Amino acid sequence: MKNNSRKAALRRAEELKKTILNYEQALPDIPTGFGQWRRILENQERIKSLLGATDEDWQDWRWHLEKRVTTAAELKKYLTLSPQQLEEIEQTGSIYRWAVSPYYLSLMDPQNKADPIRRQAIPSLPECADHIGTSDPMDEEHTSPAPAVTRRYPDRLIINVTNQCAMYCRHCQRRRNIGEKDLATPRRDLMAALDYVSSNKEIRDVLLTGGDAFMLDNSSIAWLLEQLDQIPHVEIKRFGTRTPVTLPFRIDDELCEILSRHLPLYVNTQFNHPLEVTPAAQEACFKLARAGVSLGNQAVLLKGVNNDPFVMRKLNQELLKIMVRPYYIFHPKRVKGTAHFWVKIEEGLKVMEHLRGYTTGMAIPTYILNAPKGYGKVPLLPQYLLWIGDDTAVIRTWENRIIKYNNREAGD
Ligand SMILES: *Cc1c(COP(=O)(O)O)cnc(C)c1O
Repeated sequence: MKNNSRKAALRRAEELKKTILNYEQALPDIPTGFGQWRRILENQERIKSLLGATDEDWQDWRWHLEKRVTTAAELKKYLTLSPQQLEEIEQTGSIYRWAVSPYYLSLMDPQNKADPIRRQAIPSLPECADHIGTSDPMDEEHTSPAPAVTRRYPDRLIINVTNQCAMYCRHCQRRRNIGEKDLATPRRDLMAALDYVSSNKEIRDVLLTGGDAFMLDNSSIAWLLEQLDQIPHVEIKRFGTRTPVTLPFRIDDELCEILSRHLPLYVNTQFNHPLEVTPAAQEACFKLARAGVSLGNQAVLLKGVNNDPFVMRKLNQELLKIMVRPYYIFHPKRVKGTAHFWVKIEEGLKVMEHLRGYTTGMAIPTYILNAPKGYGKVPLLPQYLLWIGDDTAVIRTWENRIIKYNNREAGD
């Protein structure tokens, strides 16, 4: 290589380094699950001793479900809460159900009111004060051609297998289904849903979700997968579950063994903050990956949790480290009781603008706005194509260079 080109390349490398200086400066203030693991382990020990739990209990997902915290009085043992907050939680909790697993609780900083984990899990007054949102903005009630089925696209559909979750997210888009009781979808409804898939040959992709699909026991999951594998036109199965985030111990060896017998299979989960990417989540995700399952992330853009370009960049980088490929960032839906999480579209575009070019392409999900009335997912992207004419285009690069591009075919 010529000396001059090496010099130019070194200059360019210096220039490139400068483009992430502000990110590097912001990083010390962005907590991650790996960075905070020691503090999280201390929380775990405190929670375990308060519950009289053994190490074995802590690894047992059923124990976590049983010991989910569901009252303000109990929560007070683990988090610093003012009398006013206690009152808020009780009041809101009487309208919107809540439950948090001891594991997810252990990720919270007990002193920090603005903790992004706390914000996703613990009720607050704005939920009751929301008079703008609607209960079913995507009109799922009118897109159900068979029991437990939601169909909005030509070749794929959702089967809702349960309304149960390990944790009831404060930003839940299906709050109206959560109700007061945990209900697995009755077997006869599942059979009707499977019949619908069977008799509609264009359905090549079936998503099992809820609620949280991994709240079903292993034998029900095995049964569903066996049924689906008997339908010749079903090419792929997908699961929607937040258990790798909220209850990683759910990913047990038996479940992995079952899943590995039914490939090709995709699991989509929902990490929303780098604090959720912990060694425990890593273990769960690696187990799934070793079983041959491909993992994707569907984050939700949430005010006060992750509406920050650097938090999102860090989140997506942390996800690749645990073999989870960022898939979607959802613009928050206008669901009643969640208005305090809403942001404007401009914020999502800003997040996207700060990903492309600055980091690994695989760390860049698609930003999705769900069209009202259930008309489907709409991808949104900052403008990179500024103009297009007959033989030229004007493009904008990730560094904001505006460049003319020759768009003529060879013969023109
Ligand atoms: C989101 C969704 C899907 C899956 O969409 P993909 O873009 O294929 O991931 C399928 N059915 C319904 C009803 C959905 O809302």
